[in-house]
Amino acid sequence: MCKPKILIQFDPDPHASTFDSIVAIDSGVEHLLTQSGVTPGQIESLVHGAMFTRGPQDLKNTALFFGGNDVAKTEALVNAAKKCFFGPLRVSVLSDPNGSNTTAAAAVICAEKHMDLTGKTITILAGTGPVGQRIAQIISGPAAPGSCSPTIRVCSRQIEKARSICDSLRAKTAGDFVPTQSGNANEALAAIEGADVVFAAGAAGVELLPMTWNQRPDSPVVAVDLNAVPPAGIHGIDVMDAGQKRGQSICYGAIGVGGLKMKIHKRALQMLFETNDQVLEVEEIYRLGLALNG
Ligand code: NAP
Repeated sequence: MCKPKILIQFDPDPHASTFDSIVAIDSGVEHLLTQSGVTPGQIESLVHGAMFTRGPQDLKNTALFFGGNDVAKTEALVNAAKKCFFGPLRVSVLSDPNGSNTTAAAAVICAEKHMDLTGKTITILAGTGPVGQRIAQIISGPAAPGSCSPTIRVCSRQIEKARSICDSLRAKTAGDFVPTQSGNANEALAAIEGADVVFAAGAAGVELLPMTWNQRPDSPVVAVDLNAVPPAGIHGIDVMDAGQKRGQSICYGAIGVGGLKMKIHKRALQMLFETNDQVLEVEEIYRLGLALNG
């Protein structure tokens, strides 16, 4: 008899994400076990519990999901879990801290519908959060089309924070990351000067780019705003925009991107239960998004 599908949701935060739990159940997970406040030192015994309870032929019905607000903490949990597996004794893994991998993949794919990002100049406003960091990683990474990395301006209200995030990105991928100060409207306008694409990945309800950003002939060709809570992160973009032309720019809003994000998230969860050896992190999720969108 087929064993029920069990997903163990690991989260380093004090409360595991309810969003991630609901998407898991809506994607066909039959039993969801949530573990919050998890630290790397606790992972081994928790993952052994998933590996040693079912025979190898049934392990594809157990899988692990890793969420959380802090990308580095989630990565530490995922790395600890991967070290537990050996031979056929393993279960599939999906990592999506704060929805960052699925959201960033969808955002990049939306922009790529209009422009090959190879060699272009890209500005990521508030690029220091989970979503902004993953956008930077995807567009600089090997799965991006072509071999010439774009120039990626990673913006923050604090230049030191932008520098530190650029350093951590360089440790992962050989991108051309430029730490950029952007703490007010004028700095944000300067940060998009000469950019081909702008992504706004700021916290919910924070306007980062003011009116007039898209009126010049050299305004960004594509603008993607991921904030769904009014006011918009980029003035004038509607949350529902999905390729609307506003001023000189083709625009996407949070819900315009969110449809593809949800499609990627749900399909990734379903894939976990097809075999017991999948590890779906940022690159794999981006490739999945390309396949779903193609
Ligand atoms: P986050 O961590 O909450 O914030 C990202 C960055 O925003 C922070 O690193 C910070 O950068 C900046 N920031 C925070 N408070 C600010 C303020 N008061 N004023 C100006 N800047 C501020 O965001 P995230 O988790 O990466 O998510 C990015 C956005 O995507 C959010 O709006 C989130 O709701 C949205 N989202 C959308 C979808 C979708 O499907 N559309 C899915 C997931 C998330 P600095 O401190 O470096 O300036």
